[in-house]
Amino acid sequence: MESSLALDFLGELRRTHSCGALRLADAGKSVVLMGWVHRRRDLGGVIFIHLRDREGVTQCVFHAEGDSVLHQKAESLRPEYVIAIRGKVEPRTADTVNANIITGEVEVVAEEILILNESKTPPFPMEDHVDVSEEVRLKYRFVDLRRPRMQRNVILRSKVSLAVRNSLAQQGFLEIETPFMTRSTPEGARDFLVPCRLQPGTFYALPQSPQIFKQLLMVSGYDRYFQIVRCFRDEDLRADRQPEFTQIDLEMSFPQQEQIFEVIEPLVHNVCREAGFAVSGPIPRLTYDEVIRSYGVDKPDLRMPPFLDVADLFPGSGLTADGMPLVAIHIPNVGTLSRKDRDDVKPFGQERGLRVYDDVKRLERDFAAPIATVRERMGVKEGDLLFLCGVGEPPKSPRPVQSVFEACGAFRTFLGQRFNDRHQLLSPTDFRFLWVVDFPMFEWDEEDKRWVAAHHPFTSVKDEHIEKLTTDPAGCRAKSYDLVLNGVELGSGSIRIHRRDVQSKVFAALGRSDDEARRRFGFLLDALEYGAPPHGGIALGLDRLVMLLAGESSIRDVIPFPKTSKGTDLMCEAPSEIGDRQLREVGIALRKS
Ligand code: ASP
Repeated sequence: MESSLALDFLGELRRTHSCGALRLADAGKSVVLMGWVHRRRDLGGVIFIHLRDREGVTQCVFHAEGDSVLHQKAESLRPEYVIAIRGKVEPRTADTVNANIITGEVEVVAEEILILNESKTPPFPMEDHVDVSEEVRLKYRFVDLRRPRMQRNVILRSKVSLAVRNSLAQQGFLEIETPFMTRSTPEGARDFLVPCRLQPGTFYALPQSPQIFKQLLMVSGYDRYFQIVRCFRDEDLRADRQPEFTQIDLEMSFPQQEQIFEVIEPLVHNVCREAGFAVSGPIPRLTYDEVIRSYGVDKPDLRMPPFLDVADLFPGSGLTADGMPLVAIHIPNVGTLSRKDRDDVKPFGQERGLRVYDDVKRLERDFAAPIATVRERMGVKEGDLLFLCGVGEPPKSPRPVQSVFEACGAFRTFLGQRFNDRHQLLSPTDFRFLWVVDFPMFEWDEEDKRWVAAHHPFTSVKDEHIEKLTTDPAGCRAKSYDLVLNGVELGSGSIRIHRRDVQSKVFAALGRSDDEARRRFGFLLDALEYGAPPHGGIALGLDRLVMLLAGESSIRDVIPFPKTSKGTDLMCEAPSEIGDRQLREVGIALRKS
């Protein structure tokens, strides 16, 4: 851009205050502020500039009658010009105080202005809410990140990271780095690969998590490790996933599961406090079986009440198939549902195989006493939504009862979100954490026709289930746990296997030969034979945590430079093709397909 303005040099001028610092008590001071022109109002004789930096906005005033050069310079300012202003702080008169900005009781009467840089007209204004597509925001991310909302999010992220570090350091954790260029890790997704120029034909993998390294650190005696670490997973496109994301990753030696919870609970409380929310008290615990039976999902949102299987109250009624649940879904304070409301929501349940009884008043004609008991058991009041859901026949699935609960869980979540404007239970500032414990050890993979690790293959089975590893994999429960917040899985972890013999049994149950396991993670297996202590840990998703604390609905709004759901960085246009020379250097010839 050819400059039409004579730009000034910063020279020796130093900033004395940020644009969010000045208060009434500073009146009379000479100050120097620097920042971006947020807004300019020209009233002829007086020009007002709102000067902005990451700390806030300060009003600066230019009077025409004083210095005409100064006034001319002020006239030439446009949004997003970068300037320095020297001037005097003056109190505003009572009728001009601006309660919307923290510096609103004062203004700076300008005595000197330096125009340090000009700016093209930005593609969208620097407001919290802009009417522009996300593509445009991501292409001009350097401008987007100037918007106060994004600045709040990025600053919150930094505060959260600091609170995590402080909390863990206080609890005796060491921050230790692990490599980014490594070999395949076992989290189950695809790896991003990095070709190795020095050994053509070989590749590093970017870590899906530091799992193996943190376990090795325990073997090496570095009890209590943590890292706020980038992880990479080459997964198929899903709405709010990023190919690189950040975890709060930790591991301890000799822990009971409860001790891991005791580390995490103060951590999340500190972090919430940092974000301005008071959360205290122990985090409730429910087993996997309990949450499936009461919420139909393994990451329930506790802001709404659980559902209840009431099949026992309706024997022989035909409302649900024999042996199948009849689930009462209760959502308080929804008010009267119109015919249209019912017709709108019922298909969601029906498409998931449910028979939906949305008119409980009608059911009451035949089942007055059992319905009264349902109301009493669940505490249903006038104006609450109460639906009953059964099935015509058991679903064709390996776990039919669980499948019915899962369908009801999805329906409950849908209903809760659909009617949130009425019951308002899903407040973004109501933080309901939950530990889900005792997950199944294995999941059946229909495609591969084999059991796969529900968490990862280094997770311990419950002591009392070791013998069942090969005889009853479906019945084995793991020493694994998830931290859930408002229906979002915030993190998961486990007590690990520290004995080589148990690890072999688990590989066998997973249908992996010892040879194959040795090829992939031989070094970990070796390490287990050199005095590995009992150990365990957890990883929490930093992006999701900050998203929830910021009240955002996408992690892209709390990641400074995110990728689109197609994995593209629209600003720097990555991924990109690379030239023949670079390809040759790493020994790669592209296939034409
Ligand atoms: N590595 C696991 C994950 O990334 C977390 C853990 O087990 O600590 O989900």
